[in-house]
Parts: sequence; structure tokens; C-alpha cells
Amino acid sequence: MINSDFRDKENVLRISELIHRKALGDYKIMEVCGGQSHSILKNGLKDLIPRSIEMIHGPGCPVCVSDENKIIQAIEISKKKDVVLCTFGDMLRVPSAIGSLAQAKSEGSDIRVVYSPLDAVDIAEQNKDKQIVFFAIGFETTAPIYALSILKSKKLKLKNYSIITCMYRVHKVVDYLLEDRDFRIDALLAAGHVCTVAGYKDYYALANKYKIGIATTGFEPVDILLGIYDCIEMVNNQKWTVINSYKRAVSEIGNEMAQTMLNEFFEITDQIWHGIGNVADSGYGLKRKHSEFDALLRFNIIPLNSFIENKCPLTDIYKGILKPDQCIYFNNKCNPTSPMGAAMVSSEGICSAYYKYCLNNELSCNN
Ligand code: SF4
Repeated sequence: MINSDFRDKENVLRISELIHRKALGDYKIMEVCGGQSHSILKNGLKDLIPRSIEMIHGPGCPVCVSDENKIIQAIEISKKKDVVLCTFGDMLRVPSAIGSLAQAKSEGSDIRVVYSPLDAVDIAEQNKDKQIVFFAIGFETTAPIYALSILKSKKLKLKNYSIITCMYRVHKVVDYLLEDRDFRIDALLAAGHVCTVAGYKDYYALANKYKIGIATTGFEPVDILLGIYDCIEMVNNQKWTVINSYKRAVSEIGNEMAQTMLNEFFEITDQIWHGIGNVADSGYGLKRKHSEFDALLRFNIIPLNSFIENKCPLTDIYKGILKPDQCIYFNNKCNPTSPMGAAMVSSEGICSAYYKYCLNNELSCNN
């Protein structure tokens, strides 16, 4: 099939019909990718699956889960003399206890939106009298490009490039959420883009430990429905394993070159997930031998390691206890112009998806 076939209406309806025939009972399926969540809502996929299938929207948006401590530290660094703080656009409006990066920018900090950390290295090369700091947020998918930016900076012998690390390993947080005995899912759609880099070998242990079916899944409507179909088949047959439903992009071992690059510069660390807490071995930090690129060390920023609680009930959403439009702040105190949480401002956030696709339209968002 070519790419447009994965959006083709006939293909979508054919798989939808197969799912209706296969679904024999109730199923809870978690997608753990903001791109998938948006695709499900945007394309009205909840109307194409039986109401007995509940989709749980997991912590799949990297901006939404980014540790608030790191945002505070990024703001602190941005206020220093001759510093340019670079980041992705979605991070600008994420609220923190001391405001957002956008506010810091309006107060005079030199904060620039770039599309890639490699752009930040170019800025460093062109501005040797300034310190260029990249706020490195993201999942396994993005981590290799941060490694590449450090390699490029080394090759150029730059002394003015560093990063704030805020990187996450997705399967570890799924494991953490499922350790709660009150939280139960039957199956998981593993994020296709994460698996293109990391592969899906780590997911076999999760499938076995929690007796769930796992399907690596892409983002187009046909991809997502295929993932759901494979999940239902595994649950029906009580086959607790991993099926690769995104074969055109994902292999079991992933991208070994990207993994080598990642492992050269980063090591596994504990990480605080916004809205969830501290999760062992769920992040990446710079290896000691590359600590010269650690912005927190370079600017003598005191590490902040305590989980910041706030009113945004994201964990309840990640566990399916609440749907975003059932949050008491949704579309009143919390909206895209005045967000209380990152999930309302990020382009991959689940609350922004509900705001965009579920207010005032005919599509089902909750089932
Ligand atoms: S609506 Fe706002 S406050 Fe409620 S969960 Fe979403 S981001 Fe948080």
C-alpha cells in the first residue's frame, strides 16, 4: 500500500467492520502517543469502533510530561546575560510555578524557537560570544538528534553549546502506571515513532507481566484501526505478546545506528514525569564524560528533584478515570489562551485535542 491508502475511506470502513465482528466483549485499550490520540479524535475513529472498546489516552505527549522543575530551570538560565535559550515552539506556553518561557521572553530573555537542535548548534557557531542552550525535551525518538547536536558541536570545537536534558523512555512509564493494581487495561497501542528508534523488544516483558496485548501502531486511520484489531485478537485469544502492526516503519530491534548514537552520549536515569511523579530508569541524562554539555552544571543551577503537584489532574486522565472534558477546569479556567496544564497547549496534548475536535461537533470523544 502507498501512504494515502492508510487514509482511504474504503480501507478504513473495511477494518472498522472487521473490528465490529471481532469485538466480543468490553476492552480497554491505551494509546500512548499524542499523535495517535489526535488522529483518533480528528478522524472520528471512536465512531468507527464498538462502544464496548474504551480508548484510554496515555502519557504520549512529550511536552505534556516534561518536568516542571526543568521549565523553571530553563527560565532561570534564560535570564542570564548573553544566553540564548532554544526550544521547540510547543514548550513556550507551558505553564510553571514561575510562569512560562513565553513570559520570560516577553520580559527580555532571548528565547528562540527552532525546528531542530542542529539549528541551535548553527546559532552557536554564528554567535560565539553567547552561550546557546537547547531545552532538550522528548522521547526516545528525539534523543538521537540531541546526541547528533552534541557530536556536531564537538566537531566544530564549540565551547558555547549545552543542553537541559528532559528526555523520557515511554515503556517505563507504562510499566509504572500498570503497577497500580486498580488500573487495568487489556491492550496497548505502542507508539510507532518511538518504536522506529527503540524497536519493540522491551514490550514483550510488559505484555507478559501485565497480561496485555501490545500492537506497535502508526498514526494514519488505517494504522490505528489495524492496531486496535490486532489488540482485540490478542485479547480474545488471551495471547499476551507483541504484534507489529506498523511493519512499514518498525522492526523489533529498531534503528541500531540511532541507538548507538544515543548510547554514546546518554545514560539511563530516573526522571520526573509531569502529572505522574518520579519514575525509576525512565529518562536519559548526559554521561559523565560529556558533562561539559550539561547546561545545569555550566550555569551552576541547583538540581530540583521534587515532584511539583498542581491542580491539573493529568494522572487521572492517563488512567482513564477522567476524560479531558470531564476535568472541572476544561473550557472554563483551562483553555488554549489560558492553559492550566501543558496538555491544553501542546499540539500533541490530549486536552487540546478534545478542545479542538470534541467541542461543538457531532463526533464521539468518549466511549
Ligand atoms: S483541562 Fe487543563 S487542568 Fe484539566 S487536565 Fe487538561 S490541561 Fe489539566
